[in-house]
Amino acid sequence: MAKISINIKEGKVEKASNVIVGIDLGTTNSLVAYIHDGKATAVKGKDGKSTLVPSIVHFSNDGGILVGNNAKDKLINDPANTIYSVKRLMGKSYRDVENFEQYFGYKIIDEDSDSLVKVRVKDKFYTPIELSAEILKSLKHRIEKDLGQKVSRAVITVPAYFNDAQRQATRDAGKLAGLDVLRIVNEPTAASLAYGIGLNPEEVRTIAVYDLGGGTFDISILQIQNGIFEVLSTNGDTFLGGDDFDRAIIDFWAKENNIAPTLLQENKNLAQAIRLQAEEAKKTLSNQDEFSSTLENYNFHLTKSQFDTLIQPLVERTITSCKNALADAKIETNQIDHIVMVGGSTRVPLVQKSVSDFFGKALFNELNPDEVVALGAAIQADVLAGNQKDVLLLDVTPLSLGIETVGGLMDSIIPRNSKVPTKAGRQYTTSVDGQKNLKVAVFQGERDLVADNRKLGEFILKGIPPMPAGLPKIEIQFILNADGILKVKAKELRSDVETEIEIKSQYGLSEEEMAMMLLDSIENAEADMKVRGLLEARNEANNILLSSDKFLNQNAEILSTEEIEKTKTLVEALRTSVAGEDKDAINKAMDDLNTYTSPLAHRAMDVNIGNAIKGKGITNIEQGTRNEEV
Ligand code: ADP
Ligand code: MG
Repeated sequence: MAKISINIKEGKVEKASNVIVGIDLGTTNSLVAYIHDGKATAVKGKDGKSTLVPSIVHFSNDGGILVGNNAKDKLINDPANTIYSVKRLMGKSYRDVENFEQYFGYKIIDEDSDSLVKVRVKDKFYTPIELSAEILKSLKHRIEKDLGQKVSRAVITVPAYFNDAQRQATRDAGKLAGLDVLRIVNEPTAASLAYGIGLNPEEVRTIAVYDLGGGTFDISILQIQNGIFEVLSTNGDTFLGGDDFDRAIIDFWAKENNIAPTLLQENKNLAQAIRLQAEEAKKTLSNQDEFSSTLENYNFHLTKSQFDTLIQPLVERTITSCKNALADAKIETNQIDHIVMVGGSTRVPLVQKSVSDFFGKALFNELNPDEVVALGAAIQADVLAGNQKDVLLLDVTPLSLGIETVGGLMDSIIPRNSKVPTKAGRQYTTSVDGQKNLKVAVFQGERDLVADNRKLGEFILKGIPPMPAGLPKIEIQFILNADGILKVKAKELRSDVETEIEIKSQYGLSEEEMAMMLLDSIENAEADMKVRGLLEARNEANNILLSSDKFLNQNAEILSTEEIEKTKTLVEALRTSVAGEDKDAINKAMDDLNTYTSPLAHRAMDVNIGNAIKGKGITNIEQGTRNEEV
């Protein structure tokens, strides 16, 4: 149901859709789908022909931007300003992609090999996020036209092997396109959903998702139970796909027609025309036994069995990847319940036969393989919209989980978008001498201050044997299982004292609340950083004040009256600045005190009085958890 609002100023009735769309942002093609009359449906362009939008962006001389088929037309005569395969660059540094630079027909910038890549178009630089946002904008536009309503919320899919940086980049691209990205979903998960696998919470299934697209091949082994998709393993080849099938045909025809490779390099138009014929032949051979055409004075002919021979080694490589994925997941072929086929290239009969023979089973391939990921994303979106009440789909943690540290700061232990199940830990220490108890408060959210995040629970680690501040080693472990249940353990490693609690973390927040929290963290990032800076300075200063008092007490004999007085004055100055709000003033007071006391501390060390002071000057105590005694 769409909400209807009235624009009083213009006297217009505006419909804002509350549909959440599913988007497959692919390397070769992208598309958008939604649930229409209870059925996942991919949206066609205004020509009413294809649901696929080629993932290509062209920058024209007049500053205009073309996306999709119009941009694809520019690949031959304006390659430098026509960007394809931008998905390969998402979340990558120049170092990550430099070996493949010749693959791209456009310029990738290497100003700093460790920072994220940019693409140079004319005299401007674009991040892969901005370029992907153009594709997403065009999809947003497409569905808004189709629905006659504004669309603002989406689920976007990514390969299961995408790391946090790549997922984050995809999310940011969505945001830039004016979309609220409610969830990033793994492509194999979406494909399974499109076939209805995983929608029944009772079923337990092991699935192989075989995805052969234009330029990439992925195989993912998933385990599904209680509506939770766990990725057991992924494998594949990021430079293997339908484009390689086309290339094999081109090479074959070039030989048959005595076309020299140099001619193809020089005559770009001829090369492109042959490439299009090759793709045409490949597609034709997916349902016919023969292909023939002529171009200029060349004859292009190919039979299905010739084609099979050409691509046999390529298909064999995908089967090797399948074997590796199964081995990594410690799964035998006979334990696989379903094989889901994804990607345009899985229409090739030899591919289907090879995969089905390898797994010894019939394939799930009735749905359109180029649409299946987007259709599944639309189903996931529908679940998030609350239209499928009993279904709970989870394959990554949507928000970070962490604990409160000194000064009310959030210390994330499991970052958001981590795959579940997962486990992570970190060591802390006390910040007060003889501290016996430690409060562990667990929070969920992206903000720097725990006060802005959501508290999930807390417990107290009791009975830490008395030790000087900084000495106890307290390990805090977060274990998030596939049911979304978080177990938090705290253990003092020197004494083996330990405590744990269980927290049900995942289901407390609605998707909207989650989205709000994420948005919030972005909007407040700058303010948070300021507050964090102040709090960190205060914490450090408080630690220094504690050790200063200790230092003065323990070293009264070896210090002159003047030294003691001067130190006290500096300590007081620091105490005053800590009470204020100025981070720079606190840092300066700390510096002054440290500079003055550093030689004194060295002297104290030399005289070998105690070991209260280590290293230089009055040392900071390593990062502490809450310093309050409870
Ligand atoms: P991606 O996931 O990389 O964006 P797609 O899943 O859209 O890619 O697959 C695109 C590839 O599928 C192209 O190489 C295209 O030629 C190929 N393809 C599309 N239709 C057919 C067909 N009928 N037979 C064989 N290959 C096809
Ligand atoms: Mg794909």
